[in-house]
This record gives sequence, C-alpha cells and structure tokens, in this order.
Amino acid sequence: MFIQDEWLVKTFFFIFGSMIGSFLNVCIVRWPQDKSVISPGSHCVKCQTPIHWYDNIPLISYLLLGGKCRVCKAPFSIRYFFIELLTAFVFLAFYSYFGLTFLLIPYLVMVSGFIVATFVDLEHRIIPDEVSIGGMILGLVFSLMIPQLHGTNIWWQGLLFSAVGVLVGGGSIYLMGMLGEWLFKKEAMGGGDVKLMAMIGAFLGWKLALLTFFISPFFGAIVGIIEKIRTKDNTIAYGPYLVIGALISLFMGERLILCLLFGYRLF
Ligand SMILES: [Zn+2]
Repeated sequence: MFIQDEWLVKTFFFIFGSMIGSFLNVCIVRWPQDKSVISPGSHCVKCQTPIHWYDNIPLISYLLLGGKCRVCKAPFSIRYFFIELLTAFVFLAFYSYFGLTFLLIPYLVMVSGFIVATFVDLEHRIIPDEVSIGGMILGLVFSLMIPQLHGTNIWWQGLLFSAVGVLVGGGSIYLMGMLGEWLFKKEAMGGGDVKLMAMIGAFLGWKLALLTFFISPFFGAIVGIIEKIRTKDNTIAYGPYLVIGALISLFMGERLILCLLFGYRLF
C-alpha cells in the first residue's frame, strides 16, 4: 500500500472515530436517564431547539460555534468536544495497532463501550447495563464469529473461552465484593463493576480478565487516596480503573504474564 493510501485510511479512522464519539456523547447523557439514544434528535438542553446537521458535525461544529448553542448561546460542555476528540484518537490508535483485520471490529466496539462506561461512572457512579450486559452479549457473539479473538480458529472454542471469561471476570469481582462486605460490613463493589468485568472477560478471555482484576486496584488505589484527601468521599468510581486494567491487559497482557510468572523482562 502506498504511503498516501495509508494516510487516507488513518484520516478515515480519525473522522469515523469522531462520529462515533458524537454518538457516544448521546449515550453518556441519555442512558443514565433511561432515555432513547435514537429519538428525539440532538437538541439544546436549555432552549430545546433541535440542532441541525450542519451544527452537529463532530469536532468542527463545536469550534465554529465556540461551544455555544446557535440560538440561545447557552454553553455546551467541553466534554462533548473532548469525547469526540478522544474517540477519534482511540480509533486511530486501534487501527494503527491492529491494522485492517477482523479483530479491529470487536475491539472498536469494546473500547467504545469502555468510553461510555468511564464517563457515566465518573459522573453518576453507575455503569449502564446497555454497556455491560449489552457488551457482554456482543463479546460472546463476536467470539463465536471471530474465534481468533481467543487465539483459535474453531467457533465453539471461541464461544467457550469467551463464556469462561465472563464467569472468571465477573466472578473475581463478585467474590472480592463479598469479601469486602464481610470485612468492612458495607457494600464494597457495585453490581455494575461485576457486569463490566463480565463484559471484559467476554472480549479478552479468562487469562486477561484475571490480569485486569489484579492490576486495576493499583490505579484505583492511587486515585482513591487522592480523591479521599480531596473530597473526603469514600466511594470511588471503580469502572474507569477496570477499563485501564483491561486496556493494559489487551496491549501488554501476554508480556506482563510472562514477566510476572516467569521473570521475563517487560521491555
Ligand atoms: Zn439553546
């Protein structure tokens, strides 16, 4: 492939990512309120004016309108722009890493779910079932259709490895929550975290789900301590750390396991 073509494909994934990011924004706002993400179309939350397509172009419209509603000038959260930009770069990065392979599709679906879970959890301390349960089902279906996700060419093995991933992923967090409840006499892990880990297991399989389970607390602990000092709030949104753990497991998991179990060098 010529260099120019490669840039064309990369530009495509960046723009495609920003469009998906625009849709993820809608999911992040509406799923916690149990509203449809299809209708009604985008509208200003202040003056209710529908937003025309030409004012709804990812990244560009926000900049052209200066982050304000065209009609009533109410400011739109910078988060909309940030999530479009983030998703654009994430899609570009995933394409650059995996190339145009069948693996790219399920992983883009998975990471889109991760973005929604992260921002909803940070704001509302919940993870929508649409992401966790929906993602788990998609993970199982993808594993059946693309068993290479789990390093095999046989469809029933892909499905089996995915199902074991669901059990081990969800089960690990569930058991830790039980233990925490028994030790501290209060709810330690939310049900949303259990379901999110079940989704992660469905996509990544049991080994990487277990690795996610073990490395997430390190990130959660660091931020949890900072948050506790800053807000005196004991509850932290744990979803984002499961997401960080899952992404590290996806990209570095095999090496990390060899390093931890057999003393291989990490880099
Ligand atoms: Zn308005």
